[in-house]
Amino acid sequence: MKIVGKRKNELLSDGALSEDVMGDESVRPMYLKDYIGQDNARENLKVFIEAANKREEPLEHILLYGSAGLGKTTLAAIIARETGRRFRVTSGPAIERPIDLVITLKTLSEGDVLFIDEIHRLRRPIEEILYSAMEDFMLDRVINKGIGSRPVRIPIPKFTLIGATTRSGNLSSPLRARFGIMLPLSFYSEEQLKEIIVRSAGILRVRITEEAAFEIAVRSRGTPRIANRLLRRARDFADVENDGFIDIQTADYALSCLEIDRCGLDMVDRNILTALAVNFKGRPVGLGTLAASVSEEPENIEEVYEPYLLKMGFIEKTNKGRMATSAAYDYLSLKKPET
Ligand code: ADP
Repeated sequence: MKIVGKRKNELLSDGALSEDVMGDESVRPMYLKDYIGQDNARENLKVFIEAANKREEPLEHILLYGSAGLGKTTLAAIIARETGRRFRVTSGPAIERPIDLVITLKTLSEGDVLFIDEIHRLRRPIEEILYSAMEDFMLDRVINKGIGSRPVRIPIPKFTLIGATTRSGNLSSPLRARFGIMLPLSFYSEEQLKEIIVRSAGILRVRITEEAAFEIAVRSRGTPRIANRLLRRARDFADVENDGFIDIQTADYALSCLEIDRCGLDMVDRNILTALAVNFKGRPVGLGTLAASVSEEPENIEEVYEPYLLKMGFIEKTNKGRMATSAAYDYLSLKKPET
């Protein structure tokens, strides 16, 4: 697998792999049959893959959208494997100049799957290169800038673009319109996360009870990446305290040491809710103000914390900003101020 790009460069650096990345790789499902949940996306893909394989044609361009850690990269790699195509990876922030994208596109081979993670972060002049590349498999370039300049069309191999985004709303309509297949990924149920944890535990050779796996699942914010991370943390506690065995007591102890509560919320979530409910007294708050008040990056609030707090019904987004809901006041055991 050829890996290009910022985030994935971690995987190329020798030796210095973070444990999270390594753990993620070993438990990442390789085939559609091992990909748990997302039934609708999976069933549709099965048909599209079979049809493309029958016709011996590359798949149409696919847009995968959903929160971080829900399985977009995993699914893209599975699509490449199931169609017997090479998988090339890059990301919006890694493509800094138009020439970077041109080189990536020119070095593709016929039928390759090109995965662009965080595709919403492509700058507009770079994104525009994709339009003709996706539609006609042509690069529209201008040679000899200045006097004597002329436009040229350079053919590139037929490829499948898989774009992943946490914010489909931030995608421009011309780019969105060029995806033939759009697949939304949603948060996982507790049962599905439990299944993922049991599967990962098997691969990592960790002994865990069903009850403990469920407990970790409940506190994983509907997200497989978090479920796998909590499993590894629980394994650390089990190795030290319980002969490597994760039972319900060990799981509970590990999760409370990590300050993750029964709703899956951590310190930052609680700080956000407290800021909205107490400091700002339930009034709508802009993203920048909220981020500054909890010392987090606005992007982190939007992409990591907010989607789950919204899903849990603890915050609501209005035109004027984010607000704590009645459920947030109940969660914090506080009385909601009269409006
Ligand atoms: P994203 O690209 O959406 O941020 P990833 O594809 O990197 O998410 O998924 C994060 C991790 O979660 C993967 O390494 C994989 O181990 C696990 N994972 C994701 N989706 C599934 C799934 N449907 N079944 C099992 N494990 C999954």
